Amino acid sequence: MELRLYDTLSRDKRVFAPIDPANVRMYVCGPTVYDFAHIGNARPVIVFDVLFRLLRHIYGESHVKYVRNITDVDDKINARAAERGIDIRELTEETYNNFKTDVAALGCLPPTVEPRATEHIEEMKAIIERLIASGHAYVAEDNVLFNVPSMTDYGQLSKRPMDEMIAGARVEVAPYKKDAQDFVLWKPSKAGEPGWPSPGGIKTPGRPGWHIECSAMSWKHLGETFDIHGGGIDLVFPHHENEIAQSRCAFHTKVMANTWMHNGFLQVEGEKMSKSLGNFITIRDVLKDWPGEVARFNMLKTHYRQPIDWTVKGLEGAEKTLKHWHEVTEGESSEFVSSSVLGALADDLNTPKAIAEIHALSGMAKTGDVDARIALGGTLQFLGFIRAPRIELIGEDYVGIDPASIQLLIEARSAARVKKDWKESDRIRDELAAMGVVLKDSKEGTTWEIAR
Ligand code: AMP
Ligand code: ZN
Repeated sequence: MELRLYDTLSRDKRVFAPIDPANVRMYVCGPTVYDFAHIGNARPVIVFDVLFRLLRHIYGESHVKYVRNITDVDDKINARAAERGIDIRELTEETYNNFKTDVAALGCLPPTVEPRATEHIEEMKAIIERLIASGHAYVAEDNVLFNVPSMTDYGQLSKRPMDEMIAGARVEVAPYKKDAQDFVLWKPSKAGEPGWPSPGGIKTPGRPGWHIECSAMSWKHLGETFDIHGGGIDLVFPHHENEIAQSRCAFHTKVMANTWMHNGFLQVEGEKMSKSLGNFITIRDVLKDWPGEVARFNMLKTHYRQPIDWTVKGLEGAEKTLKHWHEVTEGESSEFVSSSVLGALADDLNTPKAIAEIHALSGMAKTGDVDARIALGGTLQFLGFIRAPRIELIGEDYVGIDPASIQLLIEARSAARVKKDWKESDRIRDELAAMGVVLKDSKEGTTWEIAR
């Protein structure tokens, strides 16, 4: 199957050809863990989960490596931990666990690796030392700065005029900077802030800038050059532009990633989501009112590059459609994925088209076409639309249950049932029972609840 993806760097939809089809590598910028993720943050997670599933389908599950980082060192984290009077590690751990629970409930598979910034300080320092040695970075007042004019082709991703870039970067104007555009690779830690021994011969402890984290983690887990780099459109500049500058100058490469993908922004009921407007919604808020698969479907109704308007009306429609499809499948599942749906996804993740194809499939299944019914079940499962991980919410939080592992177990059990491996499917049911999770199989699929 030919996969075509839109590449922000070339501004073109191109045929995707991995560097090594036996090791297809994708990096997506993950959350800064200081509070519950909002529904806008869920967009890249869901979009790149669909791409991950598609790549696994095309190249084989063990041939795709998906890295999504966790930013666990940041000003917002320091401030929040101080505000709550808790340890930084306690805050980042709690927030990361909530994030994991939320995105699993949205039907997202865990990435292959979820590296933490604080566990890659050595790699960051190694890149910084290389940049200093090659004249791309310099030390000034205990900071290390990347010297933008040292890279002759800086700015290719965002293609902005220089003056706009300077304004857009909103980088601190500091007297010690050689150039207004120069950005921070490393900065001194103030009292009470996390700090590590500094690179560049700096005597006082310091901490990394945000951009260097992703250069270090992608290098460690995917190498100097890899296939796909993704994130929200707001990250094109300065974050991704600066990641490119750091990685390419440190490793003397022509590209950091061959394909750059960016999802459009999400707004709520026609307005920009913001705390001051009172329309700020977390993923957890959504999951209290809607099954995860409904939220997932609502996100995928719009093509990932378009802006999306998140509305209750949209969620209601999504719920109706999914309920209907699940009824039509009569609980049937399979490993078969509709080729017309795959074809739509292979065209730059055209999910609205894929959904139209599922409607057509469902129409055929309703007329008694058994093959269509089986394909419908398999396709819904492939896309992560499964009723199983309906989160039972009790009070403010999930009760000691990790929906991520439940989802994986239920998917494994479905796969065993498709293969008629009843021994394995019974074993998984027992394993879930031991966790206090009861499964209910019905015509519409499998649901789960917590045993009381
Ligand atoms: P942040 O935690 O703000 O760094 O964002 C994490 C990810 O969510 C990044 O890929 C952002 O581009 C993305 N993101 C943040 N806000 C939105 C939004 N309103 N719509 C879509 N994506 C967003
Ligand atoms: Zn990043």
